Amino acid sequence: MLAAAKRVLITGGAGFLGSHLCDRLLADGADVLCVDNFFTGRKRNIEHLLDHPRFELMRHDVTLPLFVEVDEIYNLACPASPVQYQVNPVQTIKTSVHGAINMLGLAKRVRARIFQASTSEVYGDPEVHPQPESYWGRVNPIGPRACYDEGKRCAETLFFDYHRQHALEIKVARIFNTYGPRMDPNDGRVVSNFIVQALQNQPLTIFGDGTQTRSFCFASDLIEGFVRLMNSDAGLIGPVNLGNPGEFTMLELAEKVLALTGSRSRIEHRPLPTDDPRQRRPDIGLAGRELGWSPKVDLTEGLKATIAYFDALLAGDEQGARA
Ligand code: NAD
Ligand code: UDP
Ligand code: UDP
Repeated sequence: MLAAAKRVLITGGAGFLGSHLCDRLLADGADVLCVDNFFTGRKRNIEHLLDHPRFELMRHDVTLPLFVEVDEIYNLACPASPVQYQVNPVQTIKTSVHGAINMLGLAKRVRARIFQASTSEVYGDPEVHPQPESYWGRVNPIGPRACYDEGKRCAETLFFDYHRQHALEIKVARIFNTYGPRMDPNDGRVVSNFIVQALQNQPLTIFGDGTQTRSFCFASDLIEGFVRLMNSDAGLIGPVNLGNPGEFTMLELAEKVLALTGSRSRIEHRPLPTDDPRQRRPDIGLAGRELGWSPKVDLTEGLKATIAYFDALLAGDEQGARA
C-alpha cells in the first residue's frame, strides 16, 4: 500500500515565494493546501497547479481561525513589499499577529510542525554589520514600517512562547531580500521596479542617493533553505538567517539591470522613504553549519532569469512567464 502523503498547509501560497514552495513540495510528493486571501498573491502563480491531484486552493484570510487537518504548516501569509504592506498597516499587523496566533493554535491542536517566514526587517536599521541572529535589532516602533517589522517581531515572540509553553515544534527563518520570477510587476520592491522600468524604457527610480545596500537572494536558493530548515532536527528552532551575502548599493543594482536589459532608461532620484535601512547583509554561518546551506545563484544569473520572466509577462506571453 502507498504511504499517505504528508499534508502541508502553505499560507500565502499564491504569492511570489509561496507559489515556488507549492511547486517544490508537490514535486517532493506532499499533499499541498494553499491558503491565500489574494491581497498581493495572484491566481496566475498557481494556475498551473489547479488540476494537480495533490493540490488544493482555499481563499481565506489568516486573521480568521482556520480548522483543517495537516501535518506541517509553512506560514508565509503577509505582504512583503513596503508599498503593499503600508496600504493597510492595521491589516498588515493583524496578519502577522492574529495570523500567527491562529496558525499556532491550529498547529497546537493537530500537533503539526510550523515554520514562520520572518524577515531581516526584525534587525531594522542595523548598527551591526553583517547581521547575525544574535543581534536584537534597531526598529522604530512607531514609524511607517513598524506595522511590518513589529508585526514580524511579535510573531517571532509568539512562536517562541508556543514552543516554550505548549512544546510546539517551531522553525523560524529570517529571510533577507529575495527576488525572482513570479514577483508581481506592481509589487513595488526594488528589483521588480528596476526591471519593469528598464524593460519599458522608463526612468529607474532610485530612492535617496542610492548608496544604501541590500543583499539579494534568488528564489530557488531560498526555497531550498526553507525545506532544509523545516526538515532539520527538532532541536534547531532558529531563528536562522537565509539570504545571499553578496551586498550591493542600489546604484550598482540599477547599473546591472541597465546593462543586462540593454535599456536606454535614465536614472532618476526620488526622496528616501522614512526609516529606510542604510545597509543589510546576512551572516549565514548558522545556516551553513546546521543545514549545509548556502546560496548558489549569483546576482547576474538570477537577474537574467528574472528579466526573462518580466519580459515574457509584459509581452503577454503567459507560457513564457511561467518560470
Ligand atoms: P508576496 O506579497 O508575494 O506574498 C504574500 C502572500 O500572502 C500573498 O499571496 C498574499 O495574498 C498573502 N496574504 C497576505 N495577507 C494575507 C492574509 N491576511 N491571509 C491570507 N493570505 C494573505 O510576498 P513574498 O515575497 O512571497 O513573501 C512571502 C513571505 O516571506 C512573507 O511573510 C514575507 O514577509 C516573507 N519575506 C519575504 C522576503 C522577500 O524578500 N521576498 C523577505 C523577508 C520576508
Ligand atoms: N485556532 C484555529 N484553528 C485551530 C485551532 C485554533 O484557527 O485548529 C485558533 C483559535 O481560534 C484561537 C487561536 O487559534 O483563536 C489560538 O488557539 P489556542 O488554542 O492557542 O488558544 P485559545 O483558543 O485557548 O485562545
Ligand atoms: N528602492 C529604490 N527604488 C525603488 C524601490 C526601492 O531605490 O523603486 C530602494 C529602497 O529605498 C530600499 C531598497 O531599494 O533602500 C530596497 O527596497 P525594497 O522595497 O525592495 O526592500 P526593503 O526596503 O524592504 O529592503
